[in-house]
Amino acid sequence: APSDTNKRRVTILGSTGSIGTNTLDVIQQLGGQDTFDVVAVTGNANVALLAEQAKAAGASLAVTADERRYDDLKQALAGSGIAAAAGRAALLEAAAMPSDWVMAAIVGTAGLAPTLAAARRGADIALANKECLVSAGSLFVEAVAAGGGRLIPVDSEHSAIFQALEDDQRHAVERIVLTASGGPFRTWTREQMAGVTAAIARAHPNWSMGLKISIGSASMFNKALEMIEAKHLFDVRPDQIEVVVHPQSVIHSMVGYTDGSVLAQLGCPDMRTAIGYALTYPARPRLNVDRLDFAKLARLDFEAPDEERFPALRLARTALERGGAQGAIMNAAEETAFNAFVDGRIGFLNMADIAELVMDAMAGWPAATTMEDVFATDAEARRQAGEVIAKMEMAA
Ligand code: NAD
Ligand code: MG
Repeated sequence: APSDTNKRRVTILGSTGSIGTNTLDVIQQLGGQDTFDVVAVTGNANVALLAEQAKAAGASLAVTADERRYDDLKQALAGSGIAAAAGRAALLEAAAMPSDWVMAAIVGTAGLAPTLAAARRGADIALANKECLVSAGSLFVEAVAAGGGRLIPVDSEHSAIFQALEDDQRHAVERIVLTASGGPFRTWTREQMAGVTAAIARAHPNWSMGLKISIGSASMFNKALEMIEAKHLFDVRPDQIEVVVHPQSVIHSMVGYTDGSVLAQLGCPDMRTAIGYALTYPARPRLNVDRLDFAKLARLDFEAPDEERFPALRLARTALERGGAQGAIMNAAEETAFNAFVDGRIGFLNMADIAELVMDAMAGWPAATTMEDVFATDAEARRQAGEVIAKMEMAA
């Protein structure tokens, strides 16, 4: 058996979520504790699952972001020898513990500080938490580079592009084409969408995912975030980023080259493929996931995205063209509006209205030059979004 020092040390931020549980499944498929040393796992509300995961993976530390759940976590881990901790500072400590690879799978801007802590110490960052890239942009990319680790996308679209991008052919890239499923409301009118609840909006046709990204797929705000994510990951101009609706979610995205060639990555909609690629890159793992059956598939459909019904795409375009702090502002306003929608305080279509109002109001906001600027921009956009939401509630 290989000695402990030969094992890849991994950290999973957001282990209890959809990406986190899939990551642990991939680790298990690739040999579990014989191959990997799981240093730390982190979660939030579900400490029972977190403790169970920590034990199954043989983790050294389990952290819940929620301080009120410390006692529950400690109790659930009693006698296991696994350390328990809680709160934001503990989350940063988990991220800072030495490891080779970190899955960044916390949802939302809450993931930015811990992911940065991991990046700064030089770990390879497998990035699912797209919000931290949308919010901090090139500063985040620079932080990873300065730490000396690699930034490997986990988002299925960006993993596809990463796989279709040849390093020595970057100069010949003409465009990248992000595919979008169109979500559950792909064929709906705005009138139909106006009255939907979070329970309806979260039902995705192809992928099983966390709440925020499921709602983001329905509003296409997820694709809006992904357009900005792509700009920073692949260093392309806004006019080189295309979106095409592809309801089957089989083509995960494509790269178009100057000779007219288009390279695509295909697969069944299963995040474990992208997670496995990020874990073993540049090698490919052997994974127990469904294989595509082309005869059964029979056809692949495409349609142009509709920016009238899905204004999030137009807002992403605006954010890309304006540059500066607009990505961080769009992200913060959208996350605030998403929380209000889930709480039943605003309607589905209001999410884009709020993001647009705050983006316009903060159009002159200076670009961040430090991470402190990013956090300040985020806080101001949340404050302004909160004001808009309060006004909407008063008017309703
Ligand atoms: P999820 O809601 O299922 O899981 C989120 C994780 O973050 C959980 O472990 C939760 O405990 C933790 N968390 C929540 N709030 C927190 C807080 N305030 N502080 C610390 N931790 C907190 O989400 P998910 O679907 O797994 O998505 C995670 C990230 O991956 C998101 O950024 C999402 O956009 C991205 N992503 C997800 C998928 C997918 O298929 N689920 C695909 C592509 C990208
Ligand atoms: Mg995606």
